[in-house]
Amino acid sequence: MGTAGTVSIAGNLERVQERIDRARRRAGRTDSVTLVGVTKYVPVERIVEAYRCGLRHFGENRVQEFEGKHSQLTLASAVFHLVGHLQSNKARRAAELFDCVDSLDSLRLAHKLDAAAREQGITLPVLVQVNVGDEESKFGVAPDDLLELVEKIAPFEGLSLRGLMAIPPYLEAAESVRPYFRRLRRLAEGLARRHLPGVEMRELSMGMSHDFEVAIQEGATLLRVGTAIFGPRKQ
Ligand SMILES: *Cc1c(COP(=O)(O)O)cnc(C)c1O
Repeated sequence: MGTAGTVSIAGNLERVQERIDRARRRAGRTDSVTLVGVTKYVPVERIVEAYRCGLRHFGENRVQEFEGKHSQLTLASAVFHLVGHLQSNKARRAAELFDCVDSLDSLRLAHKLDAAAREQGITLPVLVQVNVGDEESKFGVAPDDLLELVEKIAPFEGLSLRGLMAIPPYLEAAESVRPYFRRLRRLAEGLARRHLPGVEMRELSMGMSHDFEVAIQEGATLLRVGTAIFGPRKQ
């Protein structure tokens, strides 16, 4: 992978795509698995380079950082996901800047995003972030509170609920993360069985650079990959 200056994005993307293809084959998956390149701390030029190499989905975790980059990113068919915690006071800006918010974690935020989206005349696709590891330090709704939140958000006209997202505990061995991926999938399956109007459970955003093969086996449809594409971050 090399150090920041010498990273070959084309080469990295090729390797990541090979890993994805292999994992899909092993898991017997024929549905789609979308690679979201996570570009926090990645300068605009590198993002454009990845786009030229064919990457279409990008994830940023802070509104403020993306605010500074987005005007230089006139990439016709790029899709920008917000994948980090969003403060309610930035909801309006987030609804303008991003194509989807994959980290919706509270009713309060849902209200703000819904109002902003309706004002802007759009329907904003969202994923609900679940704290699958029940970690104090992590954002996301507790698994026990998920159904209640989903039922409340479902009728919101400015939001289109597409699925779930999780950031499991960081564990060195990818295999150890499996129970958390599985938990997210089961939660989504449980919600899907309820056939709530306005609720789709098509997307599962889970899996990062070191564990996405396991996430694919457990049903991930959106992989959030930073380091394996763009090299090590400064932070
Ligand atoms: C940074 C980040 C990632 C990517 O992590 P890597 O280990 O670099 O692939 C994925 N998801 C979120 C929410 C992130 O903030």
